[in-house]
Amino acid sequence: MNYELVIGLETHVELSTESKIFCSCGGHSAANEPNDCVCPACSGMPGMLPVMNKHVVELAVTAGLMLNCDINKYTTFDKKNYYYPDLPCAYQITQINHPICTNGCVTLKTSAGSRDIRIKQIHMEEDAGKLVHSGKYSYVDFNRTSVPLIEIVTQPDFRSAEEVVTYLNKLKSMFRSGGISECEEGAMRCDVNISVRPEGSEEFGVRTEIKNMSSFEAIEKAIRYEAQRHMDALEFETEELVQETRRFDDASGKTFAMRNKETEADYRYFPDANLMPIIIDDEWLEKIKANKPAAVDEKAEDYRAAGISDKEIDMLISNHKISSLLDELVAKGANAKDAAAWILTDCAGILRKDGKTLNDLAMTADDLFAVMQMVEKGDINRGAAKKILIAMVEEGVDPVAYCKEKGLDKKVDSSQVEAVIDKVIAENSQSVTDYKNGKVKAIQALFGACMKELKGAGDPAVIKSLLEEKLK
Ligand code: ADP
Ligand code: MG
Ligand code: ZN
Repeated sequence: MNYELVIGLETHVELSTESKIFCSCGGHSAANEPNDCVCPACSGMPGMLPVMNKHVVELAVTAGLMLNCDINKYTTFDKKNYYYPDLPCAYQITQINHPICTNGCVTLKTSAGSRDIRIKQIHMEEDAGKLVHSGKYSYVDFNRTSVPLIEIVTQPDFRSAEEVVTYLNKLKSMFRSGGISECEEGAMRCDVNISVRPEGSEEFGVRTEIKNMSSFEAIEKAIRYEAQRHMDALEFETEELVQETRRFDDASGKTFAMRNKETEADYRYFPDANLMPIIIDDEWLEKIKANKPAAVDEKAEDYRAAGISDKEIDMLISNHKISSLLDELVAKGANAKDAAAWILTDCAGILRKDGKTLNDLAMTADDLFAVMQMVEKGDINRGAAKKILIAMVEEGVDPVAYCKEKGLDKKVDSSQVEAVIDKVIAENSQSVTDYKNGKVKAIQALFGACMKELKGAGDPAVIKSLLEEKLK
């Protein structure tokens, strides 16, 4: 029989906030040593009280807007109770009764065409700490406790592993470009719910849930393994499928049962009376909407319309810092396509030579715009611009001052250029003879000698044509 795969995802995303969700400790990326980002509140000391981080609400709403959700004006927190040593209060603050966003939708472009995945809800919650096992002992690190998360829950709308990975990549670029999360390794974690059913059947099969995966590659492998296990169970009655929680073991490529699926009742959810309901009024919502970065599709469209290539668009969309730099340059009046080339080709090339990436670029839009302007006005040529750019990237120099200091902006008049060409021709008779005997390439050596003599000043195109004329 042919079977259809049915998958629903629960994705946890760590938010890029400066502090934790209910206290003023720095976010978990601020931590260096175990337990150095911890206070009485996030370590669950008696009498501690949570205080809501407003920025978390704003980022959750922004994510909801990007995923076409309804934003709920009234939203509340609940306690999810369970005991584990990495959870100091023995409950997690999360949302079950009134989540912040509901009823969204994302459209995926896959090899099977356009597919809509419905978003059931997005809720805000706090992360738990971490256990570190070493020999006979286990240690508790609370740095990650109370780091803000959003959990995005889809309807069971995925029909293949490919769709799942496409969706996750899309979330990742959206959240990066929206400043919601950097989605670095481990900051985006998925629970994958899987079932299979005979093709054409309307009814869902028994589902299993594979917990806590962060590598997209592992997610794909786990789905393939688990789907096959379900199909074998149905087709050959190899085992009885039960609703349960499983873990994926990367080394063997298999999934293993962890525990029976817990139900809502197991967690004794109840409203957290320590936190007031949050009311998102129209004024606040409008403010968040106004600050919302253009949704990824919209933004990609703008870039495409400006003539930026698809490859460059991908680089821009997945890097919030770089796309903001480009947007700033465009706002100053730069041509988008040129500006993209300056950043993604020139600056990236210089950084690459030093073993760095665009994430290391510390250049203001003002400085880069100044260089672009000097080129456009003809004050300097591309060669001089490149020299200035290298000094800017590597040493952070001020472009205008550096240009003056190094004498890169001196405009040369044509009589000076002619004098240099005459001199080069006189001193390089061999190359001249070669050129006249039909070795066209010999002009390169002459041209190079002229450029060297002029120390990079002057317009290369003009110099070249003058040189050709003189040789004739
Ligand atoms: P629970 O509260 O038990 O976790 P939810 O209704 O919240 O259940 O669903 C959790 C996830 O499981 C959702 O992403 C949903 O799409 C998915 N899911 C539900 N039923 C199935 C199924 N039969 N097959 C695959 N995924 C499913
Ligand atoms: Mg669930
Ligand atoms: Zn704290």
